[in-house]
Amino acid sequence: MPHATPALSPEEYDMLLGQRVPCRWGDACGVLLDDTSASGLMRHLRAYHLTPTPHVPWDKRARAHCVWGGATGCGKEMANASLGKHVAAVHLRVRVECPRCHRDVGRAGLLERHLELYCEQRPWP
Ligand SMILES: [Zn+2]
Ligand SMILES: [Zn+2]
Ligand SMILES: [Zn+2]
Repeated sequence: MPHATPALSPEEYDMLLGQRVPCRWGDACGVLLDDTSASGLMRHLRAYHLTPTPHVPWDKRARAHCVWGGATGCGKEMANASLGKHVAAVHLRVRVECPRCHRDVGRAGLLERHLELYCEQRPWP
């Protein structure tokens, strides 16, 4: 049997793309986030929500309230710099399942690595 390179089928890619979630900051954003890691979220929040005046340097130590899910949604207060991590951990605990062995791999970005190195369904049929 030839040594097959692990590759995702189109269905599996679709599944991954399905992991995109709409931003619910203030309940009125709706931008589809394809990077829901803490740093990806931070980038989005910073670009869209945490810089009230363009060109004013961003103050990562300033305190802000989390308004994920609407102004009254969460309300937790923390430093600007913690918001990405907070949203990823508290509001976006998305379960990403390996399409082959159905184990929880944590998040979409880790799936390819899982398929390559850890998946119990190796070697490929
Ligand atoms: Zn947003
Ligand atoms: Zn929150
Ligand atoms: Zn697997």
